[in-house]
Amino acid sequence: MSSLDTLIDKARASNPHADTDLLRRAYDFSAAEHAGQKRRSGEPYLVHPLEVASLVADMRLDDVAIAAGLLHDVVEDTLTTIERVRDLFGPDVAHVVEGVTKISSISFSTSEERQAENFRKMLLAMVDDIRVILVKLADRLHNMRTLDHLAEARRLIIAQETLDIYAPIAHRLGMRKVKDELEDLAFKHLDPKSYETTRAWVERRRKATRKAVQGLRETLERTLAEAGVPFARIESRIKRLYGIHRKIKRQRIPLEQVYDLVALRVITTSVHDCYAALGVIHQTWSPVPGRFKDFIAMPQANRYQSLHTSVVSDGGVPFEVQIRTEEMHEVAENGIAAHWKYKEGRVGVDPDEEHFAWLRQLLEFQQELRDPGEFIHDLKVNLYPDEVYTFTPRGEVKALPRGATPIDFAYSVHTDVGHQCVGARVNGRMVPVRTRLASGDIVEVVTAPGHTPSRDWLNFVVTSRARNRIKHFIHAEEKLRAVELGRKLFDKELRRFNLSARSVLVPEAVGRVAEEFKVARGDDLFAAIGYGKVQARSVLDKLVPSDLDEQAGGRSIGTVVRRVLRPSEDKVKVRGFDDLMVFRARCCSPIRGEKIVGYVTRGKGVSVHAARCRNVLNLLYDPERRIDVVWDKQADEEGFVVQLGIQVEDRQGMLADVTSKIAGLRTNVLKIEATSSDHHGRINVTIEIADLKHLQRIVKVVRAVAGVLEVERVMSAG
Ligand code: MN
Repeated sequence: MSSLDTLIDKARASNPHADTDLLRRAYDFSAAEHAGQKRRSGEPYLVHPLEVASLVADMRLDDVAIAAGLLHDVVEDTLTTIERVRDLFGPDVAHVVEGVTKISSISFSTSEERQAENFRKMLLAMVDDIRVILVKLADRLHNMRTLDHLAEARRLIIAQETLDIYAPIAHRLGMRKVKDELEDLAFKHLDPKSYETTRAWVERRRKATRKAVQGLRETLERTLAEAGVPFARIESRIKRLYGIHRKIKRQRIPLEQVYDLVALRVITTSVHDCYAALGVIHQTWSPVPGRFKDFIAMPQANRYQSLHTSVVSDGGVPFEVQIRTEEMHEVAENGIAAHWKYKEGRVGVDPDEEHFAWLRQLLEFQQELRDPGEFIHDLKVNLYPDEVYTFTPRGEVKALPRGATPIDFAYSVHTDVGHQCVGARVNGRMVPVRTRLASGDIVEVVTAPGHTPSRDWLNFVVTSRARNRIKHFIHAEEKLRAVELGRKLFDKELRRFNLSARSVLVPEAVGRVAEEFKVARGDDLFAAIGYGKVQARSVLDKLVPSDLDEQAGGRSIGTVVRRVLRPSEDKVKVRGFDDLMVFRARCCSPIRGEKIVGYVTRGKGVSVHAARCRNVLNLLYDPERRIDVVWDKQADEEGFVVQLGIQVEDRQGMLADVTSKIAGLRTNVLKIEATSSDHHGRINVTIEIADLKHLQRIVKVVRAVAGVLEVERVMSAG
């Protein structure tokens, strides 16, 4: 049983300058706030925070963390507010208490392996002070020790959560002792039968092997001494119950076949002696092949270092030996806490190392920690630096790369959800699709049936899954457009020679020509024309292998049937926005409603000019490449971007008058620039409009503004 005095002694042992007054005040406050409350065991509630603080002190954390241990439940379980804790004990203590309270409010109830991993990561990403996690681990450890008093349903939930979330976090942090105890306690509650069987069996074996183990230790001590290998001590231990249980599960063997129940541990004084001791051990007993592991040369991610080997005793029973230095032992037992020393010296982060296992850096022997805030900063920088953890509305965690947007999220749910995504509610608020998500965001994707991905999405999505699905969709759509366009270009060519599609496009002939152009089907042939890879004329030449120019002169041949194509059939439809096959010419950027002219470029599809464009004159020189185009009736969500140049008299309020008139017509203003000289001014405004009529209305109202001299549409250069 801990007391305040023993707690203060522990705090002083690791830090002589610990603020004992702070600890006394925290104790008194916690006692007063929890007064009258009892735990399920019947003990006064205060026992719990005191034990937690004591565990925190055992981790050798600082006075702030110990005080937070004493106070960790006052916000959750009493009427005390976090502000009051801050007033009384300062921002650091309050910050840790708040963090622990926050984590405690989330139930990580899942045993699905990937989800559990996401929860662990998210928990670590959520906190901004490592002391929060360590106090929480102490809290959980004490709760697990006293779990017997709870009802079964509750016990199972807490034990499972401990096994899935908290024990692995303790492991990550290298805190073996905490992890081992959490696992064995969870095992006891989750599978009491197996626990009892294993425990009873180990107990019997312990008695039976006690003498044998003593013999092994003596032999080892003697041989090391004879070989002149210095060592600090030799420990023997029986393996943990949960470890044994996991082994028989994994290897599917009965309990009786677990032989290496005993492990010896040699603690040496130097790394050199570790290898020397290994040599002696391998000379004394036969090593089991394949069991030697050198974690000194290659430390585990949580900085664990040790030599492991298994040897066979003279009695034919295998046993494991671990060899490590005192320092390595300290790290193996206490992990992160082993490095928690309050000395000068900052934690440096080598940028080249940022992508290595984060703990490797955190637990670097040479690096000593000064400030927990700094420490956690490094932890956050290095811990999953590239990921954010978001929730579905049902509480499922989605791990996404940093910078991910609702579109990425939507595609991670399902391809169709991604395709139809029009926006998202993040934490209950509507946000645009290009919003960057943050850890902890609850994301609800908003979809619209029939909505399709936009090429623009490729500019901001970050997951390869979203990128691939969008590209795949766009390519498929482009292919359709290319086939459609190729077909039109081909029809135009047919018309030039007074040929009918029906007579020329005979399936066998098409198949043969497709083969010649190395494409699979007739559709691919048209797509090739549409993409501009192949000329419509070359395809026609192959299909009708005679002198086409002669026919153009009017003579028809054989079974060629004349057919008058309806005019609309070879018109190319133009949508509002640019796509690969049909695009609006940059020089004049025609808008819906304007008269337009199409021009077949070489390899880039059809460029669409406004009839008013001066470049159209040039197109007339090459009438063969002209093609009729019409605006597609389908209305686009995207508007047309247009720049207006407005000449004005320079007077006060002019800019405001002009912009309010434009905005009054529900027009999206993208950019405004105003310049003035000599009592004259010029306003350049970039707006987004729906069609020509919309533009004409705008021009009309702007012209009506007093002092406006001229309004013109600005054509870009070229
Ligand atoms: Mn608690």
